[in-house]
Amino acid sequence: MFIRELKEPLSSLKGVGKQTSAAYASLGLNSWGDLLLLAPRYYEDRQNIVPLGLVADGSYANTFVQVISHSYFGPLGRKTLKVTVSDVSGQGDATASLLCFGRNFLAKTFRVGLRFYLYGQFNLNFRELQSSQFEMVLLNSEDSLPPEFGKLVPIYPLAGTLTQKTVRRDVNRLLAMTEEFTEELPVSINQRNSLLPINEALNYLHNPPSLKKGEQAYFTFSFIELFYLLFTNRRKSGPSAQGAFDFKLLDIQKRFLETLSFKLTKDQEEVTKEICNDLLQERAMNRLLQGDVGSGKTLIAWLSALLVVAQKKQVAFMAPTELLARQHAEQAASYLEPLGVRLAFLTGSVSAKGRKLLLEALANGEIDIIIGTHALFSTPVKFKNLSYIIIDEQHRFGVAQRIALLQKGKKVDVLMMSATPIPRTLALTVFGDLNISTIRMMPLGRKPITTYLVSNQSRNRMYASIEVEFSRGHQAYFVYPRIDDQGSSNLRDVESMYKYLSTEIYPNIKAALIHSRLSDEEKIDILRKFRARELTYLVSTSVVEVGIDVPNATCMVIEHAEHFGLSALHQLRGRVGRSSLQSYCFLVYEDKLSEEAKKRLLVMKNSNDGFYIAEQDLLIRGPGEVSGFKQSGFLKLRFASLTGDPHLLEIIRDEADAILESDEGLIKLENAPIREVLLKAPPFENLTMES
Ligand code: ADP
Ligand code: MG
Repeated sequence: MFIRELKEPLSSLKGVGKQTSAAYASLGLNSWGDLLLLAPRYYEDRQNIVPLGLVADGSYANTFVQVISHSYFGPLGRKTLKVTVSDVSGQGDATASLLCFGRNFLAKTFRVGLRFYLYGQFNLNFRELQSSQFEMVLLNSEDSLPPEFGKLVPIYPLAGTLTQKTVRRDVNRLLAMTEEFTEELPVSINQRNSLLPINEALNYLHNPPSLKKGEQAYFTFSFIELFYLLFTNRRKSGPSAQGAFDFKLLDIQKRFLETLSFKLTKDQEEVTKEICNDLLQERAMNRLLQGDVGSGKTLIAWLSALLVVAQKKQVAFMAPTELLARQHAEQAASYLEPLGVRLAFLTGSVSAKGRKLLLEALANGEIDIIIGTHALFSTPVKFKNLSYIIIDEQHRFGVAQRIALLQKGKKVDVLMMSATPIPRTLALTVFGDLNISTIRMMPLGRKPITTYLVSNQSRNRMYASIEVEFSRGHQAYFVYPRIDDQGSSNLRDVESMYKYLSTEIYPNIKAALIHSRLSDEEKIDILRKFRARELTYLVSTSVVEVGIDVPNATCMVIEHAEHFGLSALHQLRGRVGRSSLQSYCFLVYEDKLSEEAKKRLLVMKNSNDGFYIAEQDLLIRGPGEVSGFKQSGFLKLRFASLTGDPHLLEIIRDEADAILESDEGLIKLENAPIREVLLKAPPFENLTMES
């Protein structure tokens, strides 16, 4: 097989029609390579003959049978075929009944007198051995055994019209066409870790000669997958800087701090020093700054960026949305331009003409800090000497996007900011060698947000208390889950509620409607007016969820709160409580709450602590769905499991480091078809072994 053929679409494989390729696609399998590296869920053991006479209640038969009679049972008009078979494997003559629910047509295939290979799970029902889940393969002559017989059979994930038989057929068709792959990892790694040679591993994965070999093949691919993930996320590093954080703020940083109306918290100060210390080291920084919503992470980004600017190098600051990028750009302009820092703003909406000038200036080094969305890592963006990347709300970005940015500079320091705490093993796997800085305390003078659970009927009292806040000059957000009423649900939507609020409840108060169907320019304009207090409240969908910072807003109303997840609720609530003003959050709920929704709302009422809330989220929802990670495409591993052996992660990390230090095998990695398939954000989130 030629390497490029791994990229061939599955629809071009012989025998794969439209329906089948659609079913594969729904599993995330699109190319030949995807299917070739499809991980079996487990192996079914059909090695030993288990004649019908030896089958216990609930266990499996694996034998040869002859059809002896047909009968029908069940109510008239919905009769079900029952095929009675007797064992002909030469070990007794027990009989069993095959119940063909909805498959009466099988009478034509399982004709009386014919012999079949039979595999299936059986139950004892009134002393009759019965199965409704079985496989039968016709035996033509005594010596032609069916391919499944006497083997370990891989069981694959299925979707749509797929059957195990189809997947097995297609996988084996691909295997038969495959010429040898060359080893991608250095042989020394294979030996040290008892990995199978790649071609053997591929064969054994789908056709294991023993359970042990199958498991070894599986392990080999888990190892390779984790290796590539770690390798890609790690860069050459020296020993990490230990010891005193002896960093002294530069003059320009001090001048910046003097312009602020408040003092840094102790945590902010320490974290800043930690980061600046790192930035001064030879090795590249890879650091996560975590701190709860509103703890003041952005300021640390600017403060540390000043150090890099002072060294005449460039900084890129990336935000997940246009709205947020704009807010950061405006804040940076007011903070940093007075200090002589040259700023630019780049998102998808910057005009072609403006963009051209901007890109030239960036390539010439006339820009110190560029702020933008993922447009920053589109290919034409060239830097003169990019050396520091700051990623806000990092959990919203995928691995591929981060890698693309890293490739824009030689030695690039990376600071990722997030309010979502990351489990240690995940951090290690997804980010390679990651250092973590944490802000634990909130800025001085912050009052905890008071959260009320408001039932639908008592909304008028809520409206009244918000009006009191308005009279004090404070502002509010009203958040709804939908944009408009499409008739299909009875959820309140922003459009009708905007009408209602602005005519019935607050007729003389200025407000605006904001949602994802507005253009970015419109959204940005509304937010600007809100910040300037020209608008008193916003009626919004969850577009305001992340990062928006308007400290004068003190009320957050979330309607149909039961429809939001805990992390979304916490993020939304975090839009208020951003100053020393007392803030309020109203979670409005419908009467019929599920137990889970009740638990979520109570967690919100009782806690303002993002770490605690994340923990509760995990408890309520189960570990498969740690907020933020699943959605962002981080966790999609084919073979490996992050909750598996943490020791293995350490071993693989060391192997990856050793290669980075020696450059051994780097060339091979450039042209590695297996790697390409594995790293292409693989599809299975539900396919880790523990499921
Ligand atoms: P987040 O960590 O959620 O990104 P921000 O960086 O947006 O939070 O900061 C939230 C608000 O707190 C901003 O208005 C910011 O100016 C303010 N802030 C940051 N640090 C302090 C501090 N030490 N004292 C008072 N206010 C602060
Ligand atoms: Mg933020």
